[in-house]
Amino acid sequence: MRIETLSLTGASAGTRRELTLYRYGAARAQPKVYLQAGLHADEMPGVLVLQHVMDLLDEASSRGQIIGEICIVPVANPIGLSQWTHQRPLGRQDADSLKNFNRGFPDLAKLVGPAIERQLTPEPERNLSLIRGAFRKALSDLRPRTDLEEMQVGLMMWSCDADYVLDLHCDHFAVMHLYASSERPDVTSLLCRAVGARLALIEDFSGANAFDEAHAAPWRSLREKYGARVPQGCFAATLEYRGQLDVEDALARDDALHLMTFLAAVGALTGVEAKPAHPDAPHLPLAGAAEIVAPQGGVLTWQAHPGDKVAAGQVLGHIVDPVSRRRMAVTAPIAGLMFRTEFWRACQRGQTLAHVAGAAVAPPGAVGR
Ligand SMILES: [Zn+2]
Repeated sequence: MRIETLSLTGASAGTRRELTLYRYGAARAQPKVYLQAGLHADEMPGVLVLQHVMDLLDEASSRGQIIGEICIVPVANPIGLSQWTHQRPLGRQDADSLKNFNRGFPDLAKLVGPAIERQLTPEPERNLSLIRGAFRKALSDLRPRTDLEEMQVGLMMWSCDADYVLDLHCDHFAVMHLYASSERPDVTSLLCRAVGARLALIEDFSGANAFDEAHAAPWRSLREKYGARVPQGCFAATLEYRGQLDVEDALARDDALHLMTFLAAVGALTGVEAKPAHPDAPHLPLAGAAEIVAPQGGVLTWQAHPGDKVAAGQVLGHIVDPVSRRRMAVTAPIAGLMFRTEFWRACQRGQTLAHVAGAAVAPPGAVGR
């Protein structure tokens, strides 16, 4: 295992942050799997899971069980990790620009531009390394203007040529679930079965270019333009390790073992259990995840909880306005799996409270990774 660091320039005099990568296995061994956690800097479940994964990889390495290259960035967002205000981590957004840390990653297909077409050969396998090389070159040509941009480019320099990219996040209160594109449903199923996801939310292009989308979408874009010469070069997913408070060593150790199963199943490890222990989860459209909105401001209580299957119109909870004493029901707009709720027990009118995943594309209510 080798440790690499990347120093960010520093936003102001006397301050510098750095990214750290743990690289297991031989350089350029196949497959390359890249895992990171903490891009939203208030989401610690995945950060703890990767600590346990690294313990397991240390053991696997000493036994010669690492076949592929496994790259781990244990803290993907040192900027966010240091941005606290009033004794709370800001976490999701940059304190200065208020940008969501998991949006606006470089668009690799756009960066390589039409020039890539002249380099393509008739062989998808050769084009795989050629396109990856073009991605690395395009990223290294960028001139980031801020530490935040530099951090995003730095992460992608490490990840853009990976066969598998897993970005570990969590929700407020939630069941284990994940986000993936429609490109590789077989791998999405494998991942669900390995990690025990209850739900896979599928979306191809959101336009927001979250980290997973920034890896999966470029291959699809290039293939739409240049056909089957362009292979499916990267499977990328965002894993939501339940809720923000689900941070326990026993749970994280189990989750780490499940990730080891995935690593073995894709051929990055040998001599490790490669048979997933869980059933597949439903793959549902992200656009079908209906938003539950507060009908009034007040105090929120739940009758239903993440993991519950709910019927359309079912009462999920109540909001009481403590001044007028009016009590209003919160109901499910569609039938489906209630997979997440918000953290707070106070709410304002119109605020998102929870989401229910359904099979059909539902009214607007995008869920954030
Ligand atoms: Zn997140």
